[in-house]
Amino acid sequence: MLDATSLIVSPGFIDLHCHLRQPGYEHKETIATGTEAAAMGGFTTVCCMPNTNPPIDSKAVVDFIKLTAITDGSARVLPIGCISQGRDGKEQSDLSELIAAGVVAFSDDGSPVSDPQLMSDALADSRAHGKIIIEHCEDISISGNGVMNAGQLADKLRLAGIPVEAEEMAVERVISLAQLLSAKVHIAHVSTAGSVDIIRNAKEQGVEVTAEATPHHLTLTEDCVLSGNRLNTNAKVNPPLRTRADVDALVVGLRDGTIDAIATDHAPHSEDDKICEFDRAAFGISGFETALGSCMSLVHSKKIDLNTLISKLTIEPARILDVPLLGTLKVGAPADVTIFDPDAQWQVDGDIFASMGSNTPLNGHTLTGKVMATIFGGKVAYRDRTINLEEV
Ligand SMILES: [Zn+2]
Repeated sequence: MLDATSLIVSPGFIDLHCHLRQPGYEHKETIATGTEAAAMGGFTTVCCMPNTNPPIDSKAVVDFIKLTAITDGSARVLPIGCISQGRDGKEQSDLSELIAAGVVAFSDDGSPVSDPQLMSDALADSRAHGKIIIEHCEDISISGNGVMNAGQLADKLRLAGIPVEAEEMAVERVISLAQLLSAKVHIAHVSTAGSVDIIRNAKEQGVEVTAEATPHHLTLTEDCVLSGNRLNTNAKVNPPLRTRADVDALVVGLRDGTIDAIATDHAPHSEDDKICEFDRAAFGISGFETALGSCMSLVHSKKIDLNTLISKLTIEPARILDVPLLGTLKVGAPADVTIFDPDAQWQVDGDIFASMGSNTPLNGHTLTGKVMATIFGGKVAYRDRTINLEEV
């Protein structure tokens, strides 16, 4: 038994969006290290995006991931299958084969689906199968070779900007298609105030759209790109960190239900990918281990309440995925439990992450809110060394 006196006991967290990098990029992360980091972050279920090598577009890759997760993993891994074969945006992958193998949703995340016909077919077919499409909304003809949020700061730093329109036009378009086809669509990593408005309006019109935001987009601004007088590649992420007005709008959206869930978009990278010029650095933040502490800042500053935060990490992602036995502590559900101390302070040090990716813009920051134990399927997957593990 764990002594959870004065701690919060929550259903195990569910992450709709992460990158475990295996197969193909084991120098960045493996299913073993990724799920170990997930457990440290309080996640008992994680959905992994298909931009692996080979990508998750065949039964063989789904089988490999599921088997590796069972043998090496510290959390439940639910694979997300590719919308297009090879994620190249041309031919639709075999959705039936992937569903039979066990994928929970479809996405070409990392890349948008730019061909409207491919997206229409995928929306219609996934609706027929009762699965959701998760879209990385980016009009690459607008984002071009941008590396940070477009605006005054990008101009000052002489860096190519990614305008908000690159996201917002893609959000508009995929929502229109979903509305036309009466299909469900889930918008990944919303980053702009305009996107929040578009999604809110669509929901009011009855479109079956859901949306997620990441802890970094909910708490950090583009100012993180500058660390002292140096550019910080650990703050380079796609979509980019935006302005204070965008962050505030995302938090309002989280509170009023426009943003349904919090998802990490955990994107670990090797040092080679990040210790280089800003223009050349990879996009992405290693996010599992700081997710709770980051989001607790919204609770401590009274921008959202604790119950809202917990629901966005548990029952809401379970609802989006239509997995009603997850994200709950009710009888019959797997024994997935996260125990955390809402007031414990700790200093972030990417070098001691369980994740192989130490790429976090929060290095050296003090966070308030810490996972103390994670129980996955009735077994202790992670335990802080300060928590008592004894008969109580
Ligand atoms: Zn993405």
